[in-house]
Amino acid sequence: MSEIKYALITGASRGIGKAIAIRLASSGYHILLNYQSNDQAADETVAAIQANGGTATKMKFDVSSEQETETAIQQWMDSTGVSYIEVLVNNAGIKKDNLMMWMTNDEWKSVLNTSLDGFFYITRFLLKPMLTKRYGRIINIVSLSGVKGMSGQTNYAAAKAAVIGATKSLAQEVAKRKITVNAVAPGFIKTDMTSDIDPEMYKRIIPMERFGEVEEVASLVNYLASKDASYITGEVIHVNGGLYT
Ligand code: NAP
Repeated sequence: MSEIKYALITGASRGIGKAIAIRLASSGYHILLNYQSNDQAADETVAAIQANGGTATKMKFDVSSEQETETAIQQWMDSTGVSYIEVLVNNAGIKKDNLMMWMTNDEWKSVLNTSLDGFFYITRFLLKPMLTKRYGRIINIVSLSGVKGMSGQTNYAAAKAAVIGATKSLAQEVAKRKITVNAVAPGFIKTDMTSDIDPEMYKRIIPMERFGEVEEVASLVNYLASKDASYITGEVIHVNGGLYT
């Protein structure tokens, strides 16, 4: 029997993370499906994975909490005897847009804590077994906003730009152990996060004249997670319908 391979996706109950979970499950990974609070959405994602013949385990924890993150993963490792997770997709993220002059400390900190601290705690925890195993894939979901900037998103753009810097640095630290670290930068993708944005307002500025589908991000993540992408590391790859080059 072939060895079970594991992929942990943060924020996988909904949106882009859900599509990534479904796609990686269809590539043969057992999915460790992290989410923060939406049990129903997480159950629906697990059901969708199982309906495709895949397998998944829910892992409910707040990625911005070092203690919750490490406890949840360690408990799973202790109960299964598994210590190595081959693929980590740091996808959990929130936005709390505001002009900087009105931005509250909470709007600033919660967005940075989720995207940036969340990336740090879980990646540090899963990195050691990857280094020992001399193989791994780390994929960080960032944003066009973190490259180009966007009015009303100083918090979100700062968080995503910081993760891009960390991606490039970590890629250089671990390349010789055959661990790749890349960032995927979506533009406007149809999810709950963009449900407050009127696509008609933005369609004119997107060369493809439409918002992206979650599956269009998931297929790139699936490729980066594969052995086919073994010589790609430290990159930021855009999925944005031509919005930014
Ligand atoms: P979404 O539909 O709002 O889903 C967010 C997911 O993250 C949910 O599964 C949510 O869990 C989880 N989550 C939020 N805070 C968390 C925390 N502290 N700990 C653990 N899980 C947490 O978002 P999305 O649009 O799919 O976005 C996914 C990623 O893509 C984000 O990093 C976002 O910044 C990035 N992105 C999105 C777009 C876009 O156009 N949609 C564009 C560029 C980048 P619950 O279900 O439990 O709440």
